[in-house]
Amino acid sequence: MLWLNGHIARLAKLKMTRKTKAKSWLTSLLLCLGLSLFGLSPVSQAQEDANEQIDAIFDKFDQGEYSDQQAISEALDYLTANVTMEDTKRYLKLQTVLCWNNYDITKQQAIKDAIAFADMKLLSEGVAASAETTTDLKLCRAFMHQLLGEVEVALEEYNKVVAEAYLIESPRLIADSRSLRGAIYSFQGNFAQALEDLITAQHLYESLNLQYWAIYNLTELATSYRRFGDPQTAIKYYSKLEKGFEDTGDRDGANAIKTEIGFALEELGEYEAALKKHKEAYKYWRDTQGEEASSYTAVNVAGVLIQLHREDEAKAYLDLAEKHVQPEIGGSYSFMRLYQAQSALNKGQYPQALDYIDKAKRSFEAIKNARGLEKLHMVHSQIFVAEKDWKQAYEALLSYIQTHKSLDATQQTNRTTEMRTRFNTEQIERENQQLIELQKIKENELVILKQNKYLQLAVIVLGCIIMLILSIVAYKQSQKSKLLSILALTDHLTQLPNRRYTYSKGEGYFKSKDEGDHPLSIILFDADHFKKVNDKYGHDIGDKVLIALANISNGLMRKQDLVGRVGGEEFLVILPGTTAEQALNIAQRLVTTVESSNFDDVYVNFKLTISAGIASVEGDKSFEHLLKRADDALYRAKSSGRNCAVLDTQ
Ligand code: GH3
Ligand code: MG
Ligand code: MG
Repeated sequence: MLWLNGHIARLAKLKMTRKTKAKSWLTSLLLCLGLSLFGLSPVSQAQEDANEQIDAIFDKFDQGEYSDQQAISEALDYLTANVTMEDTKRYLKLQTVLCWNNYDITKQQAIKDAIAFADMKLLSEGVAASAETTTDLKLCRAFMHQLLGEVEVALEEYNKVVAEAYLIESPRLIADSRSLRGAIYSFQGNFAQALEDLITAQHLYESLNLQYWAIYNLTELATSYRRFGDPQTAIKYYSKLEKGFEDTGDRDGANAIKTEIGFALEELGEYEAALKKHKEAYKYWRDTQGEEASSYTAVNVAGVLIQLHREDEAKAYLDLAEKHVQPEIGGSYSFMRLYQAQSALNKGQYPQALDYIDKAKRSFEAIKNARGLEKLHMVHSQIFVAEKDWKQAYEALLSYIQTHKSLDATQQTNRTTEMRTRFNTEQIERENQQLIELQKIKENELVILKQNKYLQLAVIVLGCIIMLILSIVAYKQSQKSKLLSILALTDHLTQLPNRRYTYSKGEGYFKSKDEGDHPLSIILFDADHFKKVNDKYGHDIGDKVLIALANISNGLMRKQDLVGRVGGEEFLVILPGTTAEQALNIAQRLVTTVESSNFDDVYVNFKLTISAGIASVEGDKSFEHLLKRADDALYRAKSSGRNCAVLDTQ
């Protein structure tokens, strides 16, 4: 922007040295306005508006604010149509947004297309130059591999991306890559690493104020804790999530979380609290989606009611669930059968209870739910006890113990893992804090750069205003002195050039005549008997007659001639390019014109005559000499009776 200041100065200088100072203030005003506008909008206003719109769309994608497919397609169409390759920053951003959002991830082919897109972009020169873009594209590609079920490929890529994200110190990419990797670790039962990744991502998302991604990641985190056998911590995160969903108005999300909290509370043995959560969820789904949709949550309510020995209420929920819950819905179906078995047992209907147990067992085994099986073995044993079948009761109890022990062992390993993770968490938080601070410093630098830009603009605008004021002052000054000089060279009464100006003009013509060989003549004329005019009509009339005479003689001359008042009632006409003969003719015409002129405007029937002496340059030493000869001729004209013109022939 500095060159611009110099440029203005140069242009200004150029303008000021021109003779057309009169226009300089207007020019500088236009110049300043133009430059200011140019400074304020380096690109056109339309482009600036478009960029604003583009950035707003990018921001919405970053924040995860697009929910329906229609809006996403429209946004992507707008971006593709308006982001140009020359706008490198936005063009690169567009490539990552396209990879993440332009493909229908419910379709295998579309996922493969996304991978191909990322591969192609990663090879292109422009993209390869930006570390941030390549890292983001690699992350997108890894996620697509995960969706295709190629978990090991995805994990390997995630590892690389996490390392790169740390290298380029991008908190957002660190959060994204560790969140995705953490979810895979959690699914694989690798809790220590899962928690480390998910906790890191969680802190970063919260610090970066990315609410949507924070909630998304928190769900993974809470579920990991539940899988990990830590219902207390899971509840802590679930409650945070529930509030998050409620705050954003996502009631489906909030109610899905209520169920999760219900389960976690059951694991803690807090049945009353669990019942409350399950009932809230059940009521929500029943009211918003109907009986069938709510039947899965009805199973959950029944389970807690049985724990609380509220058999009849439990039975009512189970009957309702049985109408809709299908065996394909593994979890709900197996628990429904297990609770039915418990209910039948409590009512003394043993064969029916055993039948339910059978169905539940098959279903639990199919979905490999060890916790369900553990519970089932206990109920199974209780049925045999009630039937006094001690042998089978013993065997069922043995199965229970076996399942319980193996579950216990897993929990034990998990506890050790947890200790380690909790210890690491503090370290993670410290590192995250550093990253966020670094990010803030970068953002501040950008703000300062922007402020500098505005400061420079302010200087330009201020400079322009000062220049404008100076131009106006200079213009007014020049107008004033011009007026003064005009006044100094003009005769007050007749507005003709005065003696000083007329003589200096005459001298000028006389000198330039030497250079070229053009003729030059002058006529000196004087009003006849003017003293009498004054005496007879008064000085005022005399003045008016002089003005009229000035106008008549001036009107008779050509454009290049000059008529000046050189004495009281004496006038000099300078005729450049005019021979003696022509001058004599002009003088005679002047004499007769005045004589025949009508001065009625001044005084009715007033008459005036003049006498004229003419001289033409013929080897005169000076203009003064020429003037002297004209004066002599005038004298002769006066002497020979006035109202005539006499040419001096030396
Ligand atoms: P001549 O034909 O010989 O030139 O006679 P004249 O009376 O015109 O000449 P003279 O030189 O005796 O007188 C000139 C007169 O012109 C004297 C003066 O009163 C008058 N006069 C000079 N300047 C002005 C003026 O500005 N206004 C008026 N009203 N009269 C002027
Ligand atoms: Mg006179
Ligand atoms: Mg006179």
